[in-house]
Amino acid sequence: MNPDLVRVRIAPSPTGLLHVGNARAALFNWLFARHHRGVFIVRIDDTDLARSTTEFEEDALDGLRWLGLEWDEGVGVGGPYGTYRQSDRIDRYRQVADDLIERGRAYACFCTPDELAAKREAAQREGRPPGYDGTCSTIASSAAAQRRDRGEPASTRFAVPRPGLTQFDDLVRGAVRFDHETIDDFVLLRSDGTPTYHLASTVDDVDYEISHVARGEDLLPSTPRHIMITEAMGAVPPNYAHLPLLFGPDGRKLSKRHGDVSLRHYRQTGYLPEAMFNAMALLGWSYAPEVTIFSREQAVEGFELSQVSKNPAVFDIDKLGWINGEYMRALPLDRFLDEARPFLVEQLGAETVRSGWDRFVGVAPLIQERVRLFSEVPSMAGFLFVETLAYDEDSWAKLMRGDQVVQVLDEARRRLDGLEHWEPEQIEAALRAMLEEIGIGARKGLQPLRVAITGSSVSPPLFESMAALGRDATFDRLAAARARLAAGD
Ligand code: GLU
Repeated sequence: MNPDLVRVRIAPSPTGLLHVGNARAALFNWLFARHHRGVFIVRIDDTDLARSTTEFEEDALDGLRWLGLEWDEGVGVGGPYGTYRQSDRIDRYRQVADDLIERGRAYACFCTPDELAAKREAAQREGRPPGYDGTCSTIASSAAAQRRDRGEPASTRFAVPRPGLTQFDDLVRGAVRFDHETIDDFVLLRSDGTPTYHLASTVDDVDYEISHVARGEDLLPSTPRHIMITEAMGAVPPNYAHLPLLFGPDGRKLSKRHGDVSLRHYRQTGYLPEAMFNAMALLGWSYAPEVTIFSREQAVEGFELSQVSKNPAVFDIDKLGWINGEYMRALPLDRFLDEARPFLVEQLGAETVRSGWDRFVGVAPLIQERVRLFSEVPSMAGFLFVETLAYDEDSWAKLMRGDQVVQVLDEARRRLDGLEHWEPEQIEAALRAMLEEIGIGARKGLQPLRVAITGSSVSPPLFESMAALGRDATFDRLAAARARLAAGD
């Protein structure tokens, strides 16, 4: 293998929905691989069989595909290392653990769960660190082998060399060192024969010839353990880059309290993948000072792990919404229509959307200007599709109770009735002349018409909306609003 070849990986655990933090780590790995013309690998960390599900695996893979982070090797696409699923490699992990025992770098531990719990409690009482005290490290290897052969349950622990230090140059954090006194003899294989994350992840990184491991800073304490295992296997550790944690705008660690933190939520609520890609690239990295919007190609060209900041990155939904709005406005109309359609269908039903589609297309460019999310399209465009308008009651209460509203509705009908061409310009001219004559300001005069026509105080521009709706429907709606007022509502 070419030693300069960049090989990076993302390793989702399919025990929950893909979190934006994992998606950001995937994105940075992908950018790094593409920048260096390297290989981006997706493997599945599914050793926790009880909690891993195919649904969560699909969710992770769908999320990566949605973001456009196509992978060169790994689950689904194959490659020289099998299925890239940890559950298919249990024998390999056991073999490494046995080998480490044979070479004195690990040992069998026969302490029972009760004994370990008692040790932890005693350590806590006496104010000592809770790590394993090394009891079984003193059992002679022949005696340990005999006990194992007799079937006595044993886990495998790594024998951390003490005194000792593990240090490395983190591409983001610079020099990092861990004193081995702070690291206990950690478990590699549990007594039921299943590998821990430390063992499985490290063996995979060695076997798949990973050159750089870029992952969240929460995993920093694992890294000295992984380096020790790698070296004990006789391999050279990869480079490490620990990415800054994500925080909410309130300065607290990103969690459910900040809203939904699964990538799926953003896929489903109408964010564009390219906007999400752009926004996530900014979580710890910047393309250039003061530049918020950049293309995938620009990100690939400019990205370096060594330029990632070590300061916490703020995941701000408002900023994401703003970025999404920028991308939505820049879409060609066809794509805007394609992306908006499923959101309309979900709210209004396929048949309704089909029958009102042409009206929608007429004002779609104006809606495109005004929304930040596709999920906002149905509420802004719904009036174009429905037979009978449902009023937003807040808008009605605020705008339809004024003393001149009846006059405006009646006058508008009268003026519009005589229009030769049902076009926005003519409608506007007629209504403005009306405002002038009644002596009422545009806001006060036009807002009730907007509510009557669209059902809400927030809508695409009024004249274009009336034009798109058509003459008959416009008159029907003015009449319906007038009738509701006449009924004293
Ligand atoms: N399965 C681990 C996780 O999802 C991967 C960590 C790593 O990148 O080593 O957190």
